[in-house]
Amino acid sequence: MPLLVNEIFYSIQGESSFAGRPCVFVRLTGCNLRCTYCDTRYAYVEGCQMGVDEILHRVASFECPLVEVTGGEPLLQDDTPFLITSLLDKGLIVLLETNGSMDIDRADERCIRIVDIKCPSSGEQESFLSDNLGRLTDMDELKFVIGNRQDYEFARKILGSIQRGRPSPVRVNISNVFPGMDAGTLAEWILEDHLDVRLNVQLHKVIWGTEKRGV
Ligand code: SF4
Repeated sequence: MPLLVNEIFYSIQGESSFAGRPCVFVRLTGCNLRCTYCDTRYAYVEGCQMGVDEILHRVASFECPLVEVTGGEPLLQDDTPFLITSLLDKGLIVLLETNGSMDIDRADERCIRIVDIKCPSSGEQESFLSDNLGRLTDMDELKFVIGNRQDYEFARKILGSIQRGRPSPVRVNISNVFPGMDAGTLAEWILEDHLDVRLNVQLHKVIWGTEKRGV
């Protein structure tokens, strides 16, 4: 079955522990959530059908070892797990960026799953599938996008229950809503509380701004 693909492009990875590395992005069409700050609304419906072989060929043309399957919500499409396995079988490092509302174990265990936990200001606070916490491996990463102090406290509470004063079992990324939440303020909160997290400033937006697509 073909997949509905919104765009495939080569850019600098802006988030996660891979931030700063060149990366090929395969953005799949469709999302089951409607976050208030969503910057990829164009991916809700726009897209064209592509077979897995065609996607692999396109990805290979960029000659890059790192690829991210993203959306929208990539796990909405039935053939996304097959695409991920096919990319891994080509020897690529595969990141799966998912909004946390779908079973992450559908994806090949060799891929690195970057799992969002939606905070209150997203308007999708109830969307997280709590069973996903038990499915995380030490390769995976969590992500919180913070829009205000309430979001920060929400994330801190969840991290407190996961970490219990020990180093986090998974890498945790905290991003500021951009524009809207000042990264400096967020940095101060993290330092005051000695949180064991990675502050992500969404590097691609710092470099290219918020309007440009395909970066
Ligand atoms: S999950 Fe991602 S793509 Fe979907 S609405 Fe939220 S920010 Fe947008």
